[in-house]
Amino acid sequence: MTPKTPPTAAATASWLDEFPARIAALDAAHLRRHRRAVRPLQGAHLEVDGQPMLAFCSNDYLGLASHTAVSLAACDGVREYGVGSGASPLVSGHSVANAALEADLAHFVQLPRALYFYSGYATNTGIVPALIGEGDALFSDALNHACLIDGARLSRASIHRYAHADLPALGRLLAASTARRKLVVTDSVFSMDGDVADIPALLALCEAHDALLLLDDSHGFGVLGPQGRGVLAEAGLAGRNASPRVLYMASLGKAAGGAGGFVAGSDALIEWLLQKTRSYIFATAAPALLARAMQAALDQIERGSALRTQLQGRIAQLRDGLAPVLQGTHWQLGASRTAIQPLLIGPNAEALAVMEGLRARGIWVPAIRPPTVPEGTARLRIALSAAHTEADVARLIAALAELSPTRQTHAPKAFA
Ligand SMILES: *Cc1c(COP(=O)(O)O)cnc(C)c1O
Repeated sequence: MTPKTPPTAAATASWLDEFPARIAALDAAHLRRHRRAVRPLQGAHLEVDGQPMLAFCSNDYLGLASHTAVSLAACDGVREYGVGSGASPLVSGHSVANAALEADLAHFVQLPRALYFYSGYATNTGIVPALIGEGDALFSDALNHACLIDGARLSRASIHRYAHADLPALGRLLAASTARRKLVVTDSVFSMDGDVADIPALLALCEAHDALLLLDDSHGFGVLGPQGRGVLAEAGLAGRNASPRVLYMASLGKAAGGAGGFVAGSDALIEWLLQKTRSYIFATAAPALLARAMQAALDQIERGSALRTQLQGRIAQLRDGLAPVLQGTHWQLGASRTAIQPLLIGPNAEALAVMEGLRARGIWVPAIRPPTVPEGTARLRIALSAAHTEADVARLIAALAELSPTRQTHAPKAFA
């Protein structure tokens, strides 16, 4: 019998001891993230670690996160309902405030029925596995938000990824699929690029192949379409023209300025989701105070055409103002008509350096790096808001002009 070799030190080292080195590796690759403790100041200004900063990083596109009417509605909600909901919606957590918000949301997006969740992330990770499972097929745009991807994985359906916005490729995948249940999931406004999906073409493909279409309009809700009713209303596919094969979802943490998410669609689909969505059934219901605040936010969105006009003005100002700054450099502004304006820079280290340069000038724009975006497309994600003044945007343009690379020193690099 051969004696057992004594275990080496490496073999006995616990994997728990590896975390410091793994964190150091993130640092070395410029991938380590840091949180900053913030306090809201006036408009789009924040106090960050004690310093005032002009922020271009919030998804609060209409400035409703600190709106007086919305805040007062939350206070009313606290007085009436207290703080917590106490249980999941199928037990006793479904307050009359949450029920009223669901009715208002459905009415607002002009679809038959809506279901309100405590977060947008939980909405998508929950509803995808409730709709499809093993043996079914899911079709996903390559740039979809992480929670759609996570929901797809949880479903155990086979996942077919198509290149960003490549609808001919999607059509080929749908045609080749023999699955009985097919679900197409896509962001309608892509969160890191700001471009908008071709909704009528997507719906036509889904009709041709008996697929269900799930649209994540987190960045379009409140901003796009008549009265901010979102991308379906913008495409003329809400109300009388609503299709029973479309599910519409959005986060309430963006233009609505609060928190939570919802999904809306036909009565049968929403009833099914209510019965089967684990993240809905096994989680404490969103607090009624928030539902009350979100009802008030919806009211502001509906009446907020001046806010949307203000936002459109800032978008045009930034795009027009940056065009001469970027000319002849390898920096590129993505093709976006929405509040999300990506300034593609390329290398991680350079994107970080520009972010730091802006920070030194009292301006906060986040650098978005892989794995959130594809390798080699690190960018500044400039998020505009109705809370920004013309002077705020002018300050950002001037700072970027100071930080822009000297012309022709880099070979221009093309981004997809
Ligand atoms: C923010 C976001 C979500 C998640 O919503 P939360 O309410 O923040 O959990 C889902 N999809 C997209 C496209 C988002 O941008």
